[in-house]
Amino acid sequence: MLERENLKIHRLLELYKEEKIVPEEVVNFLFSRIEKIEPKIKAFVYLNKEKILKELENISKKNGKLKGIPITVKDNICVRNEPTTCASKILSGFAPPYDATVIERLRKEGAILFGKANMDEFAFGSSCETSFYGPTYNPWDLSCVPGGSSGGSAAAVASDETIASLGSDTGGSIRQPASLCGVVGLKPTYGRVSRYGLVAFASSLDQIGPITKDVEDCAILMNVLAGYDERDSTSVNIPVPDYTRALVKEIKGMKIGMPREYFLEGINKEVKKAIEEAIVLIKDLGAEVKEISLPHTEYAVATYYIIATAEASSNLARFDGVQYGYRTKNISPEADIIQFYSRTRKEGFGNEAKRRIILGTYVLSRGYYDAYYLRALKVRTLIRKDFEDVFKECDLIITPTSPTPPFKLGEKLEDPLSMYLSDIYTISANLAGIPAISLPCGFTQEGLPIGMQIMGKPFDEETIFRFAYTYEQNTDWHLKKPPI
Ligand code: GLN
Repeated sequence: MLERENLKIHRLLELYKEEKIVPEEVVNFLFSRIEKIEPKIKAFVYLNKEKILKELENISKKNGKLKGIPITVKDNICVRNEPTTCASKILSGFAPPYDATVIERLRKEGAILFGKANMDEFAFGSSCETSFYGPTYNPWDLSCVPGGSSGGSAAAVASDETIASLGSDTGGSIRQPASLCGVVGLKPTYGRVSRYGLVAFASSLDQIGPITKDVEDCAILMNVLAGYDERDSTSVNIPVPDYTRALVKEIKGMKIGMPREYFLEGINKEVKKAIEEAIVLIKDLGAEVKEISLPHTEYAVATYYIIATAEASSNLARFDGVQYGYRTKNISPEADIIQFYSRTRKEGFGNEAKRRIILGTYVLSRGYYDAYYLRALKVRTLIRKDFEDVFKECDLIITPTSPTPPFKLGEKLEDPLSMYLSDIYTISANLAGIPAISLPCGFTQEGLPIGMQIMGKPFDEETIFRFAYTYEQNTDWHLKKPPI
């Protein structure tokens, strides 16, 4: 009964209902898979088997939409009394005394919290290589990166080490690893899911969202995650629809825009071909696809790396060795408090975190603030306006998720600029605050997954789901499994 094909939320809920299996079997199945393949994948930074088995006992008494479903959580989301390190040395030993709102919601619906997933340090990266714990490996090809920063979350889902996971997305960190690992990932509209308990990277861009094996699972998980939270002042108080009702196989007459600027230089040939083939199918299914323009696209990467680093430098100021995690021991008794802070931060942060803090502090400093930060905010408004204009005539926008298929470990690590360009298609959705999904749309000749991105209007995740579901159900990319 328990085969890899069944390790999805909607399948397990059916099997539980029919009393064909019980959650304990699923958990044990995952444990034995993890035992076999985790040494090669390294998707988890924390997994407490005993605690999970204990939690199982309580779950039988609960009811809920995710009863008995194991969900893995990215390591920058607070889980009460469990390590939450953002894959950084500076947070080693930190276990928050409270749950993030999304964790409360998962618990309330009977989900089994199934470990913490590896990530780029503080979510800075696109390859999972900046983790203090070392990289995660792509289940489709162990010599490749799984993408980032939610690389552990995506690799664990793709390799069937878990059922679904939570990621966070500031500039593509849910969608790009979902694309590189051949799974589904949604960045919800800014304000749709509470950020309370998410360790902040760039507060005006961050959103938590699901990484799943198919679109239906993504909708089921969003039903639990979405909703107003008074503890997050940016969370928006508008009703949450039942997203599973949007899973209708019908896209006739839908208007889809294809932004010219996303298909110029830098796009890998096989990625381009896969999207073009997807568009043929989408037209066959009755949608109208037309070329559109998002004229400020070329400024998106620069704008993002000013705003995101500025916010990160401010958010990371709190990690000073006093309140959280790591504290230097290398300090003489005569040293003053500034020396103590600076030594702790020097030892506790990795190189990419330091690079971001320095960049962010620079663009905010007197004399440069107007030229960089303020100007970036203005360009951000123009980027948002590009989308508003396009959405007057289109329901959705289709693009590749990532310009390339999974790349080799180490390939971009020493070249931050080329790493930053991995996010060229994903960061605009964060700057504009709009929702966007990545779903599988093909494979390279070498058998590596390719993803396509669908962006929608603010708070219109439903149209994204309807479109994505229709496309998915007319293809079988989402059924392919890495051979591991
Ligand atoms: N890769 C991007 C960055 O390094 C996005 C990261 C994210 O979305 N958290 O900033």
